[in-house]
Amino acid sequence: MLDELLQSPAYVMACQQYDRVADFLDIGQSERVRTKMPKRAFIVSVPTRMDDGHTEMFTGYRVQHHLSVGPTKGGLRYHPDVTLGEVAALAMWMSWKCSLSGLPYGGAKGGITCDPRKMSRGELERMTRRFTQEMIPFIGPHVDVMAPDLGTNEQVMAWMMDTYSMHEGNPVPQIVTGKPLSLGGSAGRREATGRGVAYLVNRVLDHLNMKSEGTRVVVQGFGNVGSIAAQQLYRFGAKIIGVSDFSGGIHNPNGLNVNKLIDYAAQHGTLEGSQEDGDRVTNEQLLQLECDVLVPAALERQITEKNVGKIRCRILAEAANGPTTIEADNVLRQRDDIFLIPDVLCNAGGVIVSYFEWVQDLQSFFWTEAEVNDKLYRQLEAAYQQVLQMARKNKLYMRDAALALGISRIALAKQVRGLFP
Ligand code: GLU
Repeated sequence: MLDELLQSPAYVMACQQYDRVADFLDIGQSERVRTKMPKRAFIVSVPTRMDDGHTEMFTGYRVQHHLSVGPTKGGLRYHPDVTLGEVAALAMWMSWKCSLSGLPYGGAKGGITCDPRKMSRGELERMTRRFTQEMIPFIGPHVDVMAPDLGTNEQVMAWMMDTYSMHEGNPVPQIVTGKPLSLGGSAGRREATGRGVAYLVNRVLDHLNMKSEGTRVVVQGFGNVGSIAAQQLYRFGAKIIGVSDFSGGIHNPNGLNVNKLIDYAAQHGTLEGSQEDGDRVTNEQLLQLECDVLVPAALERQITEKNVGKIRCRILAEAANGPTTIEADNVLRQRDDIFLIPDVLCNAGGVIVSYFEWVQDLQSFFWTEAEVNDKLYRQLEAAYQQVLQMARKNKLYMRDAALALGISRIALAKQVRGLFP
């Protein structure tokens, strides 16, 4: 069974999350298997000519979770730890995320096991183009639409768009989202995930009668999502007291200058060596700093049974996908001192604006950044209100409420369509 091929800690975690919610929703056995299992999983060899002349064989993956309401949608990740099982879990989370936000997409995720930090621009381009070519039979603007994720960016999307368009013989901007503006990208897409995180943190601060002014924020991960979330919260008056990336973190209880750190990271590709005033801390120590808002914005499975008891925040805003293990989650759900903004809600801003980009490309009619942001906040607000209401009405943990909304809509769509043949 496909299930056996996908086994990995992240996949087991996604399945356990699903089962808990399916029990609550009382989804019948036949609907359950159909709603949970990914529809398709692809593994491709990606031979790539390296700068020294030798050919390196990379492995690429794509998992398309379901195609019941529209094309599948989700990022492409370049990272040394990418596996089929990880990508499958990320595809499931994409499905529930899109469904919760009311987007007409199933979830997907892809990746190539590689270390983009050690590759030249030419090597990255050749690997990306070959992967896109290998994927051509399985993708399309109405089949599967990719976007950036960890280790990929606008340039990678531009190469994918170009490769697909050369194959079609005409420009097809709607084949990927998160493209450069010059190729039909959307205003505000790059900032959308971080902007959404900051918006929701502010809404929850309001809900808890806390002020954003002076709120102490710690952010793990300083990529596109973490850095923009930090910058937005800083703009709203929050004090960013800790940030980190793969090289480690900086802590200053008086607040860090986020804009300077962003400039430094843009120049050096890392926070390492920055002269910003503060104590140097490990990623593990960073997660345990006392703060009001903790934002894990890096990899999955960072909050574990080992450190969950030591987390000292009022709001846990999951900007990363799957940052909390099941064991840690079982502790968190008992801790009413922590208010959780679950990943499928917290980081949905990215895919919401990806949807806007796809719509703009399909109709060749483009919106201003103000229009994009306004629509983004409306869509996020609706999802947030629905999750709050679901949690209140059924006395549910915020994660269960969010997943119950996402999963129940997919189950309903499948049930109404019926089983073919
Ligand atoms: N990679 C992002 C995510 O995990 C965005 C996906 C997209 O925009 O399609 O949500």
